[in-house]
Amino acid sequence: MILSFEGHSFRYECEKICRIYFPTEKIVFGDAPSQPENDPRRVKTCMEPQGENLLFRCEAEIDGRFRGYGFAAASPEPSDEAAYKAECEKLLAKAMTRVLTDLTGIRPPWGILTGVRPAKLMRRYLAQYGEADARRRFTGFLQVSPEKTELAYQVALAENECAALSTEKSFSLYVSIPFCPTRCAYCSFVSHSIAQAKKLIPDYVKLLCREIGQTAAIARELGLQLETVYIGGGTPTSLDAEDLRQITDALHDAFDLRELREFTVEAGRPDTVDGEKLATLKRAGVNRISINPQTFSDAVLERIGRKHTAAETVEKYQLARRMGFDNINMDLIAGLPGDTPEGFAATLDRAIALAPENITVHTLALKRSSELSSENGASSAGRQEAAPYGTPEMLAYASNALPTAGYAPYYMYRQSKSAGNLENVGWTTPGHACLYNVYMMEELHSVLAVGGGAVTRLVDQQDGRIARVYNFKYPYEYIGRFEEQSERKDEIRTFYGR
Ligand code: SF4
Repeated sequence: MILSFEGHSFRYECEKICRIYFPTEKIVFGDAPSQPENDPRRVKTCMEPQGENLLFRCEAEIDGRFRGYGFAAASPEPSDEAAYKAECEKLLAKAMTRVLTDLTGIRPPWGILTGVRPAKLMRRYLAQYGEADARRRFTGFLQVSPEKTELAYQVALAENECAALSTEKSFSLYVSIPFCPTRCAYCSFVSHSIAQAKKLIPDYVKLLCREIGQTAAIARELGLQLETVYIGGGTPTSLDAEDLRQITDALHDAFDLRELREFTVEAGRPDTVDGEKLATLKRAGVNRISINPQTFSDAVLERIGRKHTAAETVEKYQLARRMGFDNINMDLIAGLPGDTPEGFAATLDRAIALAPENITVHTLALKRSSELSSENGASSAGRQEAAPYGTPEMLAYASNALPTAGYAPYYMYRQSKSAGNLENVGWTTPGHACLYNVYMMEELHSVLAVGGGAVTRLVDQQDGRIARVYNFKYPYEYIGRFEEQSERKDEIRTFYGR
């Protein structure tokens, strides 16, 4: 597809709108030096002054069919540049969705809303305009369906409850373990196979423990209060029990964990979980774990390169239960290659029957670096398989079955290139919402992050300003340039010292 622009520079927003309709399409910008000849898909977007107003227009040709639509609107107030730009983008998105919906017949359930955090916007509207007007803005100008508006509203209420527990001094800690047993076919995460990275592990764990100590010293100096700890990855349980013990010991040595509200470890891949590791985590005070089926279909598991069976997921889940873990999350993915709406329904029903406290329903998102991505050389058959057939039906099934089983939505986010621009939703039984997920996703307080690929996100709770401090991405860089990276930690002091 060729996407071109006239009179504006909202490339990213326009690309995101095209992706709603054509999630796996290769998009080339109209001013790119080389362009495919005779591309049957072209979208042209235009913004130009018309008297006192601005004209927003889109023309598109999709596989031999042509549509155009434009309208004039009062120029948004130019007082605040970011708000002006956001408003113009939305108006242009309105012209684009009108044309692309006409040509494809697809009516996007989230309308022109392309952002990562729909519930954050709903929370802002609720605070500014009240419930009735907030809902009207979603279903009206933003063209969000009534069902998705209700979902955003429910999530916003749940997030407000979690937000009430966080104070100006609160922060969370993220510990990154960027290793996995093998790479799943849909994954774009910077994660290293544990077998290949084996010789790096001792140094990695040693330096991670040092960074935990450095970070705790800064938090103490600034008088910050640790609320939640999240050890994620990758797959933290791809480390052995002794490594996990060293890391959790370092956390206990560095921080006072007695007042900690939540301590989560991702035991994501069932094939990495055993009794010894679970006992280590339990002794360390971990009170929430994830054991992720993704699907309960063995055929689909094989297609996506997960080296475990559905039976193994159930076995490890039951082992964790016997060992006293009373807050367990299960991640599922809608839209996996080879899955069907009926298959997904069976997966969800099986998860509900196991009664974990949280079920997180993700929509498949194919990032460029994943094996399944069309842009990564997948065959055309692979592209077909990766298309989001049935994903909306799968999510609709989840939205009915989970509340019936006593689950409520408590956090939500969207990823670029997710099938149909659809959402990922965390569902919880009463009293088990994962605080870390809400604090991190909604940027309610700072998350200090340690380890390879970790990103510290500093939140100024007065004015909402966000600053990021990046750790080196790859484990060998994290190890080799540790001192240089430690110096970056001063940015935390600078941020809080402003
Ligand atoms: S377990 Fe998670 S992080 Fe690891 S390869 Fe699979 S999807 Fe990626």
